[in-house]
Amino acid sequence: MPNNKDRVCIIGAGPAGLSCAMYLEKKGYTNYVIYEKLNKVGGKCWSPKIKVKHNGVEEERSFETGAIMGAITYHAVSEMEEFGGYYHKGPDFKEGEPNMRREFRKLDGTVDHPFEPKVNFSFKKLKGLLKLKKQMKRLNQLMQTKYVGYDCYGHIGVAKGEYYGISKGVDGYCGATKENSFPNYIKGTNPNLKDLALPFSEFCRINKVEEVQRIWIAPFTSFGYGFFDEIPAALVMKYLDVTTALEFVNMKLWTWQDGTQEIYAHVNNKLQHPAVLETEVVKVERPEGKVIVTTKSKDGKLHKEEFDKLIVTTPLDLFKDYADATEEEKELFSKIIHERYCDYIATFDEGKSPVISGYMVENMVPERLGHAMVYYNRWQCLGNDCPATVYALANHTGSKDVDYDVVMKTMDEDMKKVGFPIKEKLYAQEVYYCPHVSSKDYQEGWYDRLEALQGNKNTFYAGEIISFGDMEDTCAASKDIIGRFF
Ligand SMILES: Cc1cc2nc3c(=O)[nH]c(=O)nc-3n(C[C@H](O)[C@H](O)[C@H](O)COP(=O)(O)OP(=O)(O)OC[C@H]3O[C@@H](n4cnc5c(N)ncnc54)[C@H](O)[C@@H]3O)c2cc1C
Repeated sequence: MPNNKDRVCIIGAGPAGLSCAMYLEKKGYTNYVIYEKLNKVGGKCWSPKIKVKHNGVEEERSFETGAIMGAITYHAVSEMEEFGGYYHKGPDFKEGEPNMRREFRKLDGTVDHPFEPKVNFSFKKLKGLLKLKKQMKRLNQLMQTKYVGYDCYGHIGVAKGEYYGISKGVDGYCGATKENSFPNYIKGTNPNLKDLALPFSEFCRINKVEEVQRIWIAPFTSFGYGFFDEIPAALVMKYLDVTTALEFVNMKLWTWQDGTQEIYAHVNNKLQHPAVLETEVVKVERPEGKVIVTTKSKDGKLHKEEFDKLIVTTPLDLFKDYADATEEEKELFSKIIHERYCDYIATFDEGKSPVISGYMVENMVPERLGHAMVYYNRWQCLGNDCPATVYALANHTGSKDVDYDVVMKTMDEDMKKVGFPIKEKLYAQEVYYCPHVSSKDYQEGWYDRLEALQGNKNTFYAGEIISFGDMEDTCAASKDIIGRFF
């Protein structure tokens, strides 16, 4: 039985952990603690400040190493903004604001205009675009009819042809109001939903909408979420529902002046109990009816404390390394796959940086694993002397992983080839990204098995695995878990 006097331990102060705390407070819980192993909150929303020259004057600007963008469909993130008092910019960007404009660049360095019929006009191009438009319309209709119910956060029941969850409200509304964060859930049966377990390319083929992959690929594969021959369609369509995909096409995106990390830093500042930093959870024991958590702080001191409930927002495949995971937890979590997404922030030779972000679509195929797929210039106002972030994927199911060092070198070569020679890397990383399961495990009901475990041993699982590895799905998953179980 939910009891808002319970003492709750939250592991991790990324978007998931902080949104869990916010929603707990909205439900009247005040007796909670968030442990974060790093010296900062925000997890993969990490926005370092870098010194740049603007009109000859040195100043600091935020850059992104992790999450960048949002859209009109970011309802739970909007609640976080409201709670923290820090808001996005866009979709219409003003001079001096970070923007989300982009171009398409071929590997020979020329700029391509694949979606503008009048540029480099040919009848073949026009015919291709008309076909694409028709299939976009068809997919939209199919999602509203044949796949009704696809637009809930999370994956409960989908493998069985059912749906249950908070509606994403892809037309711009998910039911939350200022007074009530926990709107009604939608529930139903739709056997067609089972198709969503198929890899996205197969899902498109059976629905005769293969062309739409041309639109979906840039915000999906180049954003590190994997390739369409391996990722279940459910994951693609939960993140890039038709509304969100169109916001990408029409460049109606959001970004944050001081970086996405600030969304979470602001929320953390408003919480009754801000995250306890530099404190790693190193042991979890769950004897009958109790949760005993051991943490290790920066000075190496161990601290043991008893809780009523535990919320795990950190990678579940690593849970067994520090917790008394049951055989079922071990078996289930061992099936989790994650993407190896690599990125770096770099400066470029003088006057040679990109002045706008760019997609390199030719590199978005498994055969080009480890190649740069996208670069992000955040501050167009800084002209062609602005640092930019460059991104590549290092893994694909059925291909050999590419070593980190090779990825870094390959990205440098690609950037040079297209006209942007890298001068210095200011920050580089490989991230544990987009945890999910294979199409086969999806089909066999992996998410329903996870759902069945919620609450066992007073443990609840949140975080990006629940719905999808983006800020919105992650925060909405917290809303769902807190809404139903607390
Ligand atoms: C390069 C990149 C680009 C992205 N772009 C976008 C985008 O444009 N839009 C978007 O919506 N999303 C984007 N994302 C995804 C988004 O950042 C993630 O989905 C989101 O951060 C997941 O939140 P989380 O809390 O589940 O996990 P995380 O952000 O990974 O947070 C987990 C936290 O747990 C902490 N932790 C781990 N183990 C322990 C432990 N034992 N004890 C204590 N603390 C622990 C970690 O230090 C971390 O702070 C991007 C991510 C990356 C990396």
